[in-house]
Amino acid sequence: MDLQEVLNDIRTEVLDAGLKGSLPDYIPELANIDPEKFGMHLQTLDGRSFSFGDSQEKFSIQSISKVFTLVKAFQYKGSILWDRVGVEPSGDPFNSLQQLEFESGIPRNPLINAGALLTADILVSELKNPKLDFLEFVRSLAGSREVYYNEKVAYSELSCSHRNAAMVNLMKSFGNIQNDVNLVLDFYCHACSIEMSCTELAKAFLVFSNHGKLPHDQQQILSVSDTKRINSIMHACGFYDEVGMFSYRVGLPGKSGVGGGIVAIHPSDYSVAVWAPELNGKGNSVKGMMALELLTTKTGYSIF
Ligand code: GLU
Repeated sequence: MDLQEVLNDIRTEVLDAGLKGSLPDYIPELANIDPEKFGMHLQTLDGRSFSFGDSQEKFSIQSISKVFTLVKAFQYKGSILWDRVGVEPSGDPFNSLQQLEFESGIPRNPLINAGALLTADILVSELKNPKLDFLEFVRSLAGSREVYYNEKVAYSELSCSHRNAAMVNLMKSFGNIQNDVNLVLDFYCHACSIEMSCTELAKAFLVFSNHGKLPHDQQQILSVSDTKRINSIMHACGFYDEVGMFSYRVGLPGKSGVGGGIVAIHPSDYSVAVWAPELNGKGNSVKGMMALELLTTKTGYSIF
């Protein structure tokens, strides 16, 4: 099968569908993005790559960073991490406070805001220079030094991070946050502000297709079984309260962000990233979901 042809067809079909969504205006800097941007990059483990459109343009990865903070926190803590955060789908919006109160300050999973604020707290404790060291970690996954925080986006979010602040405070009241609330928020908003292109994201996620080994330097950063756990968490929790629909339509583990990006992986085969800023009501890229649904439908190839 000619995968470049498949991607070209996906682009045409998605654009023809005329899908519309909205930009996340609750983070002022993200409301200014051109809604027409659309790019996709597929990277295979055997070194082939296929792409279209704005696949090389950097965008705000937002919640996709939650996978990176999870992996780093898991590297430090191992399974005792699960004393402080669960691995169940939330069924609630990504920034919901209700569940956190009912469940005594233990977030449902590490891929919703509360859970990522928790892994941020762990990294603020464990890393010597948290923001710098974390950025280096993401660069090592992407195999590129050209990955940066966007300070404007980070401070734009920090200036209106009232719900996230409420979550950290609530978790702290239950004894589940160890650091100063502002330090945790600053780290979290910076992680969300990282900018990467579809190409860079697909390369950074290839490690999850490759059972924990970085394809570019053969370094094993997670054991085979811990990589299985990260992929399972992505599959069960990677799409807010739309995780069932994403699985039904696409059938791959992955993670989305309100910057309009989605990354998904096929174990042993490939990773794929798509970016189109307009979001549906659940916070997932409208065009991105359709593009990935078409990918697994046209190739007849998902994890199922
Ligand atoms: N920085 C965003 C927030 O905390 C991330 C949300 C997302 O991408 O799901 O609201």
